[in-house]
Amino acid sequence: MAIIVQKYGGTSVGSVERIKAVAERVARARAGGAQLVVVVSAMAGETNRLFALAEQLSSRPDPRETDVLVATGEQVSAALLAIRLQELAVPTVSFLAHQLKLVTDSRHGGAQIKAVDSTRLRAALESGRVPVVAGYQGIDSDGNITTLGRGASDLTAVALAATLKADICEIYTDVDGVYTADPNICPHARRLSHISYDEMLEMAGLGAKVLQLRSVELARRYNVPLVVRSSFVEGEGTRVSEEEAAMEDVLVSGVTLDQNQSKITLAGVQDRPGLAAKIFGPIAAAGIVVDMIIQNAGAEGRTDITFTVPRADLRRALELINVVAGEIGATGVMHQEQVAKVSIVGVGMRTHAGVAARMFAVLASESINIEMIATSEIKVSVVVNAKYGELAMRALHDAFLGEGGGARPGA
Ligand code: ADP
Ligand code: ASP
Ligand code: MG
Repeated sequence: MAIIVQKYGGTSVGSVERIKAVAERVARARAGGAQLVVVVSAMAGETNRLFALAEQLSSRPDPRETDVLVATGEQVSAALLAIRLQELAVPTVSFLAHQLKLVTDSRHGGAQIKAVDSTRLRAALESGRVPVVAGYQGIDSDGNITTLGRGASDLTAVALAATLKADICEIYTDVDGVYTADPNICPHARRLSHISYDEMLEMAGLGAKVLQLRSVELARRYNVPLVVRSSFVEGEGTRVSEEEAAMEDVLVSGVTLDQNQSKITLAGVQDRPGLAAKIFGPIAAAGIVVDMIIQNAGAEGRTDITFTVPRADLRRALELINVVAGEIGATGVMHQEQVAKVSIVGVGMRTHAGVAARMFAVLASESINIEMIATSEIKVSVVVNAKYGELAMRALHDAFLGEGGGARPGA
């Protein structure tokens, strides 16, 4: 019998009415004959509300206790959905991470999954029940509650699908698939019928939160076929799987915008060997991920180094950089709290030249100044002033993916 893992996001379980609708969808899918495992997020806004409560009580809430707190959101929605399913005469049983033994390391707030014990899930399936699992949470080897990072109910779903060797992992959300750009920002964005793991990885890493980054990594590693669909309307959604030959005909499959980056400039540093290591060593040691780096051509033996960090890490990065700046005799440290990183993504770029140049021309025609550039095989990213982020995204989308702009056939 086919095994299907279905994950419902925060908006999809955001109210009693929506939980009723999800229960009906689950009941229908089960009536279709598959063995179903359901993973749920907290009700929309609940995780943020819980984080905010902790922050009212402490400026640096303890990570262990924060996880005990924020993991409750998923417990509530798992129980509510199970209660409703039973009302519809669907035999069901809810599970929290500690009941399943979804074991992680001890990195509170961003724990990595170590092992998932499928015994109780399989027993539930064999007895004809639908397991409803609380996403986002885990338990470490000492029994402490952990969480897997924001948006990580997707990761729970993929991990269960990989463990159970499920036939498919269906991600139900508030949009009806993966689009060529965030449909809430780009009115002309179009749904893709199919996207490769590699492209989805880039898009997730560059700000398209429709799928959480690590869930896509895990799906690729274990070859779990994913489909993204709306929980509100019927539709085929977007399949995420291995690359297909036709994909290379398409230059750009998506445009992304990441508004959670900050920029730091270290001015007037002496241009000599070993400096970059001195600057970035402490930042790396603090676990801060530096994304883009540029070093200007030096004048009179001095140069400026500019780099980006996640906005959440800006304060810590500045503390470290101010110390380094003193040690190496830099003339100043500047920062910009919010910058926009806009990217174009597509496997077709591997074999086509000139994509970056065309991207720069589009931005120039909108008079948007490019502050930084980074490229990889299948993406080009630029940093622009935060206030032009959405404009840049729309302009690039319409140039590369507008009418006749080269969207994938069938998308
Ligand atoms: P959930 O709570 O169901 O996990 P999320 O809010 O995490 O939902 O993800 C869905 C949101 O992702 C959409 O509402 C949309 O604004 C955003 N999004 C960003 N980029 C894209 C994209 N390329 N395609 C579809 N949605 C996108
Ligand atoms: N509730 C968690 C969050 O808001 C996990 C998720 O929604 O996937 O980040
Ligand atoms: Mg999400």
